[in-house]
Amino acid sequence: MRRISLRVLLNMQTYPRFMRLLGNIVLAVVVTASATANAKSPSARPRAAISESPAPLKHAVPDEDTVAVETQVSLAAWALRAAREQAAAAIGIATRVEVKLFDVNQQQAASVWIGLDGSIDDATAKEITRLFMCRRSGRERSIDRGTLAMLADVAAHYPDKTIEYVSAYRGNAEESRTSPHRAGRAIDFRIHGVNPTEIRDYLWRTYREVGIGWYPQESFIHMDHRPGEKDIAWTFIKGDNIYNPGWAAVARSKDGKTAPVRREPGV
Ligand SMILES: [Zn+2]
Repeated sequence: MRRISLRVLLNMQTYPRFMRLLGNIVLAVVVTASATANAKSPSARPRAAISESPAPLKHAVPDEDTVAVETQVSLAAWALRAAREQAAAAIGIATRVEVKLFDVNQQQAASVWIGLDGSIDDATAKEITRLFMCRRSGRERSIDRGTLAMLADVAAHYPDKTIEYVSAYRGNAEESRTSPHRAGRAIDFRIHGVNPTEIRDYLWRTYREVGIGWYPQESFIHMDHRPGEKDIAWTFIKGDNIYNPGWAAVARSKDGKTAPVRREPGV
């Protein structure tokens, strides 16, 4: 038992955070096993009670060993609970990112916290719905979780940068019935100081089941999440969409050194 404890202590110096969690669990198990073994071991009882007259039976009052075991089990339960809470807190901190926003049309800044899986709390959901409302019709719609996951990922990929958005939900009569903007799945944006083509290529390389459009004259990128549908890439020039542009093939043909794993948003 001493050897196990020593090993735990040594490892704690190498991997402090993880080993503190593991240490708590090992401590809980070792303490419980130790207390149980001591309570059952005959050698732990006074010799006099065995060699002399039989000890009186104890029925109602628990002996010292029983009390000790119960105390140790409570300690073990506490240690396990503490370890679980520490782990949950560590995961929560790691997966939520601050997304700094700037509404280009309204000239207003805002900041929201979004999980890398697109998760948001109720207050943030209301805030995002308000920020991304249709400015032409005044209508609101909640934004798709996969789209929010990509937004959080872009914020994490360009830390300390502000995402300047041009358009998100569009619910006006002129908007196409099949538009991802109407479905609350699309955001048009740029990032000051970052070439839009860099953002474009990052998104195209990283995700599938998405639509990525490049608007060089307006200097923004359209991104949308279209679950279950084919990827689509385009360049918008002089009022027309040019589909399957050369940049899309080039971005995804990079060698393994620079091309990250492609995935669905939020997964
Ligand atoms: Zn768009």
